[in-house]
Amino acid sequence: MKAISLVPGTTNVHVTDVDEPKIQKKSEVKIKIREVGICGTDREEASGGRADAPAGQKELIIGHEMFGEVAEVGSPDQGVKVGDPVVLMVRRPCGQCQPCKADCQDMCETGNYTERGIKGCNGYQAEYVVDDLKYLIKVPPTLKDLAVMTEPTTVVEKAIDHCCRLQTARLPVDPDPMKWLQGKTALVAGLGPIGLLAAMVLLLRGAKVIGIDRADPSALKPQILTALGGIFVQSTDNNKQNIEKVAPQVDLILDAAGVPTLDFEMLTTLGFNGILTLTGVPGKGHPLTVNGAPIFEQMVLKNQILFGSVNAGHQHFEQAVKDLEAARTKWPGQIERIITSRTNYTDFAKVLESRSKEEIKAVITW
Ligand SMILES: [Zn+2]
Ligand SMILES: [Zn+2]
Repeated sequence: MKAISLVPGTTNVHVTDVDEPKIQKKSEVKIKIREVGICGTDREEASGGRADAPAGQKELIIGHEMFGEVAEVGSPDQGVKVGDPVVLMVRRPCGQCQPCKADCQDMCETGNYTERGIKGCNGYQAEYVVDDLKYLIKVPPTLKDLAVMTEPTTVVEKAIDHCCRLQTARLPVDPDPMKWLQGKTALVAGLGPIGLLAAMVLLLRGAKVIGIDRADPSALKPQILTALGGIFVQSTDNNKQNIEKVAPQVDLILDAAGVPTLDFEMLTTLGFNGILTLTGVPGKGHPLTVNGAPIFEQMVLKNQILFGSVNAGHQHFEQAVKDLEAARTKWPGQIERIITSRTNYTDFAKVLESRSKEEIKAVITW
């Protein structure tokens, strides 16, 4: 079968012929890949950055944001049947630490986890994959055109879930984490796919949402944000004042930009008992000088939390599927606009090499 393969540490990415994977256990399913999203991680891998081939192999099949249909089942009585639309999780447990043993490999403590398409395990840019049912999430047939965005949505589901759980655990509020955002003000930095999907989830939970990005207000990203009911602030030299004009008290900041200068600037707008979560991994070379004392003083005097979040658990995949469905019903035709191109795998190089100005989420089809 065909697959898109990378020689890690190089820019050598190519379509190759590999053996079709076979079901070896009753708990496994074989999936026909339909769509695989491209994100910053794929671009970093393809430019010679962070990526590891499976042990003993020279090449890594890339791709971690997938949607497919069940082609074959290891056992007929496991709740999935041929033709079911499904998505697969990315990370696999290290088998050593307590979180991994409890199926929380997104919180792995050894760093010895593997990730399909990224770290030590082949990914989803291929005609077929085989995986264990444990890592599979069923998708309603009505969600087929958006399902490829499940994985990026899980990244924000986890970050937002952890914000809400931390806040409801420490504040005298309704203990239900799903209710904490009602009436709160959330600021999202960076309106790529992650930022827009974060705005979507935050709005679904009842928050007022402000999105900040360098994009021109007439560009597609701000258009989608405002169509969902968010407020757009264009990033300039006066971010603090511009944010304060629309939001006197910011309760939650979700960083999806990975730009440290912007993060420290945003932090100064965070209100009492506020929480800031980082999801963007900064590129190399953003050195900055920080006046630490007033920042730490503010964090102490306002009881603030700053934390990072990566990957996601099974419950976040289930929540992502629910939220994508709810969002499509609430804002017909809007979430679909985040996918700006669909390209056949034979032309994958065009997508990886060049990036149009209006690109948000590029998808490879199989
Ligand atoms: Zn990704
Ligand atoms: Zn682990």
